[in-house]
Amino acid sequence: MRTGRIHVVATGGTISSHFDGTKWAELSGGDLVAELGELRAPVSVQDAATGDSASLTPPKMLEIVRAVEDALGAGADGVVVTHGTDTMDQAAYLADLFLGPDLRAPVVFTGAMRPHSAQDSDGKANLAAAIALAGEPDIARHGVVAVLNGAIHRAAELAKVDATRLDAFVSVPGPRLGRVGEPVADFGEPLRRCWQTPSCLKGGVRLLAAYPELEPELVAQFAASSRGLVIEVFGALNLPSGLWEVVHRLAHEGLPVVLAGRPYATGFNDEGLDFLGVVGSAGRSAMKARLALMAALGSASNRQGQMALLESYLKGAADS
Ligand code: ASP
Repeated sequence: MRTGRIHVVATGGTISSHFDGTKWAELSGGDLVAELGELRAPVSVQDAATGDSASLTPPKMLEIVRAVEDALGAGADGVVVTHGTDTMDQAAYLADLFLGPDLRAPVVFTGAMRPHSAQDSDGKANLAAAIALAGEPDIARHGVVAVLNGAIHRAAELAKVDATRLDAFVSVPGPRLGRVGEPVADFGEPLRRCWQTPSCLKGGVRLLAAYPELEPELVAQFAASSRGLVIEVFGALNLPSGLWEVVHRLAHEGLPVVLAGRPYATGFNDEGLDFLGVVGSAGRSAMKARLALMAALGSASNRQGQMALLESYLKGAADS
């Protein structure tokens, strides 16, 4: 069992919200760690963001990733990020895209479904589990992970599927890595990782939910001011037929377009995608696909390189 130094990056969310009977307040990372009592490992703490995670923009998430990177660079033996659960899947995915390839120590996200002040608050147990997991060096080979309600998930597969239950998170497509307390040796295969560490995310990548009456003109208008487009579609990446023409045209004019399934689609029709000139999100949610496209556009200078990177980010390919 390791006893190295663990760094905690606190970023707000329900895990740190406390209601004292009259008003809500936000606890600092230091407050959260202090109530765990004596810990096996020395723990340092930093507050990198506050508030609801629904308001965390990708640049802000990138700041969180940088805080993690700095802590690793400064020699932490493991890093824990406390984060709102609404967008944890995105921040953890971004951290995995950027840091996963060379992760030298565990990076573990956690949060809570119940506020700190609730009787059945899960934050304390989740944070304790995350700190313990961050002290297990073997975890790093799985890339960035998250631990919630006793379950351990790869960041790339993390999905929140319920808004209120304590067991709100699953791995898609799964299986999850394991459960807290299981020996590390019982964990599944290591995540295959993408290889490049990009320094920026490109803005102007938009996300649109498709529905049968969505006007093609609207899609075209929306696309006109976009650097890239993610369209959330039905089932196994089925685009309403009224949109085939406009999407085909936009993609063939050079706009990167990704189709993401709703709900998470892991299988898809490659032929149809090729014809349209679009990329499938390979089971990643539309939100994650948007981050992957932003990272790909920000990481390679020409379109061919960008599209190759995008595929490797979405599919988790080891190299490209
Ligand atoms: N409102 C919260 C958030 O910041 C939800 C949570 O943390 O569970 O995402």
